[in-house]
Amino acid sequence: MPVKQAEFFVSNSDPALCPKPDRPEYAFIGRSNVGKSSLINMLTGRSSLAKISGKPGKTQLINHFIIDNEWYLVDLPGYGYAQVSKTDREKFAALIDGYLTSRPNLLCIFVLVDARIAPQKLDLDFMANLGERGLPFVIAFTKTEKLGPVKLQAIIDTYRAKLLETWEEMPPFFITSAITAAGREDILAFIRPLNEEYKNNNKVKPDRWNITKS
Ligand code: GDP
Repeated sequence: MPVKQAEFFVSNSDPALCPKPDRPEYAFIGRSNVGKSSLINMLTGRSSLAKISGKPGKTQLINHFIIDNEWYLVDLPGYGYAQVSKTDREKFAALIDGYLTSRPNLLCIFVLVDARIAPQKLDLDFMANLGERGLPFVIAFTKTEKLGPVKLQAIIDTYRAKLLETWEEMPPFFITSAITAAGREDILAFIRPLNEEYKNNNKVKPDRWNITKS
């Protein structure tokens, strides 16, 4: 079932000012230019809900969107800008960190990675960090229409091998493309039952996708 209603709710530079955690929420994050805005627009069926970045690093805010009056989609600042000063990078990292550790309603983080690029230390470190803090995440491969099935499978296998060095299982992952809308139904079909579960229990097990090797 497609998204019926998607609206911008609020932008914040301070995690403490984010909306009351009164709905389940899902955060989207990745390095700059990974295709995050395009994926958010594709998922919600709105062509310009999230801005498609001309200039990486321009928007460094936590953006909440309200979807079907039921859940929050959160657009987090991209990480790993080469062009940004160390002080600014640290500031963004603290902002992301402050957000991630202060949302009891954050059910899952979508870590976006460009399917055309081999696993990068920055992304793997970010995932490891989420694991250490017991924050559930999944991976969304972006721009996958650029790859044929063999190359796509090869990159997934490379990620799997890398992740299994530190994880017992590969976290759930999604094959997406903002061009073909691949992954839209899968992601929405993943989110909806979690929303239901949240409504019924008002919580989900935070360690569900955090099977780190002991
Ligand atoms: P963000 O910085 O992560 O928000 O990335 P954007 O959504 O602004 O996209 C960065 C660039 O990648 C833009 O030039 C997009 O047109 C392009 N892009 C995003 N998603 C896709 C996709 O699924 N396929 C292709 N081929 N290009 C994409």
